[in-house]
Amino acid sequence: MLCQNETYPFRNVPLPYAYDALEPSIDEETMRLHHERYLQGYIDRLNGILKNCPFLQGMTLEELLAAAKTLPPALREPVCRNAGGVFNHRFYFSGMSPDSPEEPVGELNASICRCFGSFEQFRKEFKEAALSVFGSGYAWLCRLPGGALRICTTPNQQTPLARNMHPVLNVDVWEHAYFLKHVNLREEYVNSWFQVVDWNEAESRYLCALTT
Ligand code: MN
Repeated sequence: MLCQNETYPFRNVPLPYAYDALEPSIDEETMRLHHERYLQGYIDRLNGILKNCPFLQGMTLEELLAAAKTLPPALREPVCRNAGGVFNHRFYFSGMSPDSPEEPVGELNASICRCFGSFEQFRKEFKEAALSVFGSGYAWLCRLPGGALRICTTPNQQTPLARNMHPVLNVDVWEHAYFLKHVNLREEYVNSWFQVVDWNEAESRYLCALTT
């Protein structure tokens, strides 16, 4: 689903679950619009930019984001914004599942307990981070190069990759992610999101981070 080895032209691959599969936590219409309109928009704009930049066409999203800082200013911002938008949305969508354990599993669970004291404490801190984002952005759980876990936030479509952190989980807190169902109640949305976090996927990402 992540298709993070993909290069130009990027395609909007289907989600690994139906749009209504996360009901009642995340509603069908929000999922449909989020995937078919918002993510599609980032993909279309990114392809539109890369169409005129053959030297960027062989790069994956992660490579584009890493290369962006060396690009001329007029290209840097649109590449970051749109490659970031594709990366962040795919990471968010593939981090949810209708069929997932309710709590973290395996090594990630052990690490969460080690770094935050307990899953409950982690949940509390993660939720505070998600609510602290002013305007649009994301809250993330990342693994640092030394092995520790860290909660952070990014504005707009920035990613933690630039800070040398390996993402394990993210929640999209742009209003379009929850406005239809929760209007301005972001906390209610974050609580619902916790019901559908794919802890198996998070564990895979965490284990993958250990080898890098
Ligand atoms: Mn979004």
